[in-house]
Amino acid sequence: MTNVTGLTCVICDYAYPADFAGYVCTDHGNEGILDVRYDYARIASSWTKGDLDANRNRTMWRYRPLMPIRPDAPVPPLTVGGTPMYDAKPLAADLGIAKVWVKDEGRQPTASLKDRASAMAVVKAQERRAEVITTASTGNAAAALAGICASVGQKNVIFVPKTAPEAKVAQLLAYGSTVALVNGNYDAAFELCLLAAEEYGWYNRNTGFNPFMTEGKKTAGLEILEDLEWNPPDAIFVSVGDGSIIGGVHKAMKDAVGLGWIEKTPRIYGIQSAGSDYMVQAFESGEDVLTKAPISAETLADSISADLPRDRIKAMAAVTETGGAYLRVSDDEILAAVPLLARGSGVFAEPAGAAAYAGLIA
Ligand SMILES: *Cc1c(COP(=O)(O)O)cnc(C)c1O
Ligand SMILES: [Zn+2]
Repeated sequence: MTNVTGLTCVICDYAYPADFAGYVCTDHGNEGILDVRYDYARIASSWTKGDLDANRNRTMWRYRPLMPIRPDAPVPPLTVGGTPMYDAKPLAADLGIAKVWVKDEGRQPTASLKDRASAMAVVKAQERRAEVITTASTGNAAAALAGICASVGQKNVIFVPKTAPEAKVAQLLAYGSTVALVNGNYDAAFELCLLAAEEYGWYNRNTGFNPFMTEGKKTAGLEILEDLEWNPPDAIFVSVGDGSIIGGVHKAMKDAVGLGWIEKTPRIYGIQSAGSDYMVQAFESGEDVLTKAPISAETLADSISADLPRDRIKAMAAVTETGGAYLRVSDDEILAAVPLLARGSGVFAEPAGAAAYAGLIA
């Protein structure tokens, strides 16, 4: 028994039952991503901030009542979540603002926030007794799935565009994954992965497709709130590629409001590279992300390069429903932000991560 009441299509609002075996809305296909809904009254009646304080498990699984998994579901052994958030005084001084915190997601088993989603995927796949888990990815999501699967001996198949850096492919092979090099770009790898998953009954971890990935990623947002003793910051800056992380951060805020643990949601800002600015374009023009055509993305911040952000509906809502904005920063500004962030906080980030700080500067 979980606290999930149903899965709601982000386009038509149709509610599927909690045990729905599909991934997306049957009417809206791959665009009809589902949002997991919870019985907040029920959760709040049996789970308090005090219970959380007393819980010594610092991993993402401390938020189980807000997850689509049973209380006794087995979880992978790797330590996922519980990443530090630093009060970065030098950065705040540089910017002339009162407080800046840096959430260091590089401190995950495979060094990115993607581990939170992959850990959730492994739990859900094992619940369904899936023999194989699959995803398409060019980078961190693939490493995350490979690593978390390795920790439980779970077979997995990863589709990567043949242009993917050799070092990244080598990492997947080291973890024991089966790697399919696709003759095409990320979109081609994504489509092929969907077809293979359907044909062979593999569990599909793809971002902006599998509704439970948001539920893993949101734990980063819950940690931010809990670390601040449920006094939300004014604003949160998130770098955006497929838009799944920003949607997850928003979901955490909505969960906390639903439980009555916070009153007001912080403004959420989505940061994109000027060379991969689909969401910024749509935000500025007011274009509907459901019909806006893909762009041709090109940025050195490879982890946030996306022609068509897969989770764009949730990603747009995160900004518009919180009074935030989408901002673009140039690749030069992103590169400059890497040492600024490192010197002002001690956190050394890859370009995609530093882009959030470049956005704060902007
Ligand atoms: C995936 C990733 C992002 C962007 O997340 P999306 O959900 O694709 O928007 C940003 N930074 C890093 C380091 C990432 O791995
Ligand atoms: Zn629908």
